[in-house]
Amino acid sequence: FAPAAKQQVRTALNSVNHLNLETGKSQLDTAIIDRFNSLPYPADKILAEYVWVDAKGECRSKTRTLPVARAESVDKLPRWNFDGSSTDQAPGDDSEVILRPCRIFKDPFRPRDDGVSNILVMCDTYTPAGEALPSNTRAVAAAAFDGKDDEEVWFGLEQEFTLFNLDQVTPLGWPKGGVPNRPQGPYYCSAGPENSFGRAVTDAMYRCCLYAGIEISGTNGEVMPGQQEYQVGPCVGIDAGDQLFMSRYILQRVCEEFQVYCTLHPKPIVEGDWNGAGMHTNVSTKTMREAGGIEAIKKAIYKLGAKHAEHIAIYGEGNELRLTGAFETASIESFSYGVANRGASVRIGRDTEAEGCGYFEDRRPSSNADPYLVTGKIMSTIMEDVEV
Ligand code: ADP
Ligand code: MN
Ligand code: MN
Ligand code: MN
Ligand code: MN
Repeated sequence: FAPAAKQQVRTALNSVNHLNLETGKSQLDTAIIDRFNSLPYPADKILAEYVWVDAKGECRSKTRTLPVARAESVDKLPRWNFDGSSTDQAPGDDSEVILRPCRIFKDPFRPRDDGVSNILVMCDTYTPAGEALPSNTRAVAAAAFDGKDDEEVWFGLEQEFTLFNLDQVTPLGWPKGGVPNRPQGPYYCSAGPENSFGRAVTDAMYRCCLYAGIEISGTNGEVMPGQQEYQVGPCVGIDAGDQLFMSRYILQRVCEEFQVYCTLHPKPIVEGDWNGAGMHTNVSTKTMREAGGIEAIKKAIYKLGAKHAEHIAIYGEGNELRLTGAFETASIESFSYGVANRGASVRIGRDTEAEGCGYFEDRRPSSNADPYLVTGKIMSTIMEDVEV
């Protein structure tokens, strides 16, 4: 064919397939999509989506068919592997990486109505010899929590995120190439078409997380237009990291459906007066939650202060753009704490102070921080035996 004729054929084909060439998404009649989605699954089989964290901290996944009985518990699930040379997690000449299942969730993207669930499986990564990969931060955190079950440490993670158009430069609600006509103020926890952008995405993600079995505890619109938050927890120990990573995976999958770009960058808009995005980490041990627990909270905060730089080093990339001392943050340079103070590194809530027990909030981690590293590091710091 001549180029013009080729283009004609392509256009004709695409109008039949309703394929959006920019996004690759099929825009098939929903009645046709439903015809495929309503086909029953074989009663004795499930689909398992194995999810892992890559070298950059992003979730990857692939699917396999398994007998139903294998999904009863995480120990019954088989290990699997992937090509680590394609994710910067292994050299090309010895590319196999082993996936070890850690935690099962229900798959909200492949529902079925025969009483059986397809599953999402959070995995961590090992060499064939059984050594944790350098990018396997879960193994590091698991070591910090190992043998500390009696402390019953809880984490509540506030995940902030920013939604953009597919151009990746225009946040939802922003004019192309420009800035909103009103400064920050009306957008936080807002309603109305001139204030709230992307609620449908967050609500879909919320419902998917509930279905999956993630302990998502709430959501709110954030200060910068296009920015939002959800909270996961309280979760016990290593499970906070498993649940948060799976919630991030679910958020990405939902954004794929909506064709909206999501970033966890801590300062997605550097120019102008716009808030950054964090992953505030709320923490309590059993002692802290019991009468007089405030003493244990103060000791923990003292220990955190002594290791400020070590914590900042693992609290997320680009966090220096966010922790400036402005926009409800404390400066990255120094450690501070206060009651009800959103400009401090660590905040004690009013209720916790009034009741003399409860929890504290580490406000330093950025939205793209690794929840395994953050929770594991907090755990090892506050459990250390130091004179206070
Ligand atoms: P903020 O007022 O900082 O915006 P959020 O309501 O967004 O706080 O998030 C608070 C998080 O802390 C929630 O995920 C909640 O489940 C969690 N949380 C509540 N109590 C505790 C506790 N005792 N220990 C740890 N986390 C807790
Ligand atoms: Mn292949
Ligand atoms: Mn919050
Ligand atoms: Mn927030
Ligand atoms: Mn907070």
